[in-house]
Amino acid sequence: MNCGVEDGTVCAAHRNQGKGMGLKNPDSLVASLCHKCHYELDNGNSMNREEKRYMWDQCFIKTMKYLIENEKVVINDWNWKQYKDY
Ligand SMILES: [Zn+2]
Repeated sequence: MNCGVEDGTVCAAHRNQGKGMGLKNPDSLVASLCHKCHYELDNGNSMNREEKRYMWDQCFIKTMKYLIENEKVVINDWNWKQYKDY
């Protein structure tokens, strides 16, 4: 959920910040990214570290918004629809 492309390469990009060496963050911290954006995030040199973190954070927010609004993720005892107008 960065460039908006849906080309079949979209998959889960784990958060890179705050993990130990050789460890991935849990699968709860994933942003959905196409192959190109994912590559740019992990290996590209068009962004510095801060920019990459910012990009990932933005993608994570969009991914969560999508998952919640489409009821792919359901949080018990919390109805997001009542907050829809905020
Ligand atoms: Zn992309």
